Amino acid sequence: VAKRLEKFKTTIFTQMSLLAAQYGAINLGQGFPNFDGPEFVKEAAIEAIRDGKNQYARGYGIPDLNITIADRFRKDTGLEVDPEKEIIVTTGCTEAIAATMLGLINHGDEVIVFSPCYDSYLATLSMAGAKVKGVTLRPPEFSVPIEELKSVISKNTRAVLINTPHNPTGKVFTREELNAIASICIDNDVLVFSDEVYDKLVYDVDHISIASLPGMFERTVTMNSLGKTFSLTGWKIGWAIAPPHLSWGIKQAHSFLTFATATPLQWASVAALRAPDSYFVELKRDYMAKRAILVEGLKDVGFEVFSPSGTYFVVVDHTPFGHEDDIAFCEYLIKEVGVVAIPTSVFYLNPEEGKNLVRFAFCKDEATLRAAIERMKDKL
Ligand code: GLN
Repeated sequence: VAKRLEKFKTTIFTQMSLLAAQYGAINLGQGFPNFDGPEFVKEAAIEAIRDGKNQYARGYGIPDLNITIADRFRKDTGLEVDPEKEIIVTTGCTEAIAATMLGLINHGDEVIVFSPCYDSYLATLSMAGAKVKGVTLRPPEFSVPIEELKSVISKNTRAVLINTPHNPTGKVFTREELNAIASICIDNDVLVFSDEVYDKLVYDVDHISIASLPGMFERTVTMNSLGKTFSLTGWKIGWAIAPPHLSWGIKQAHSFLTFATATPLQWASVAALRAPDSYFVELKRDYMAKRAILVEGLKDVGFEVFSPSGTYFVVVDHTPFGHEDDIAFCEYLIKEVGVVAIPTSVFYLNPEEGKNLVRFAFCKDEATLRAAIERMKDKL
């Protein structure tokens, strides 16, 4: 394996889903719904396949999808973007992240990430040859430590990578935090890469796109996808939105990574993103009910629970149960209790900082969530 990937292991999601299958454990680990996406979107994909929309799509997205993404972005943020020059459709947000790093980061550039963070960030930053600096979000609030952020920015900093709503903590960045990040980035002429795939899954607060703050569109890449919003994580349709001076690099990287993304699924994505407002209202309502079941259940089991304002994840402190660290706890949970969670140390630059925390996913039907809680009540 190449040196730039030597330190990365099999992703924790793959490892845990394998163990779940092996031990017949209830999988609250990898974040994928155990229910299907909406019929009208699946129908649109089937129709597109029957209609012969099966050859390569235009590299940066079928025109209708770029237009629909621009419409959605305008509704969500008030920003007017050029669907041709400022949107690139990618193979999931994971590719948007990779193409952004590979298309905009030079070897040796510094990029700041908030730790914990989604595991692909560190691997793609390594592929791009970036120097990574971390700023830790700490429980119980996982607030952004603004002074620490200021102190790690240097003249070599090219970008700050943010993720709101945040995986794994479920934290939603506040307007104050985003304003502070924005002003630091403007003062230091730094870019922001913003992963917003859980933007429709916010419960007590609003989601704010940092690109919509004054002076920020010019220096922001906003990334999103279809997977979480439409319970279609296997479709791998994502996108990046950025001003032309940034989108060109992303477009180039994307051209040589995957060239284009599944054509019929792009047609179906047009139908999805044109869903009526009621779709998004119901999605949120359903997830609030699931969140209540898991959060209350985990509290009853005896965890210290950090209730999330967004995403479909809950982070808890497992130390009341007396295991050495998060990995040991998750192993015990799978083998002796029959439930899968994700150890959070894998999301930290310094794994020590995550050793008390594990993440559960609530993108599961209510019976599954209740069954997992029952197992933990019985056996933990
Ligand atoms: N984003 C999902 C999670 O955090 C999983 C993605 C993956 O399996 N690579 O669980």
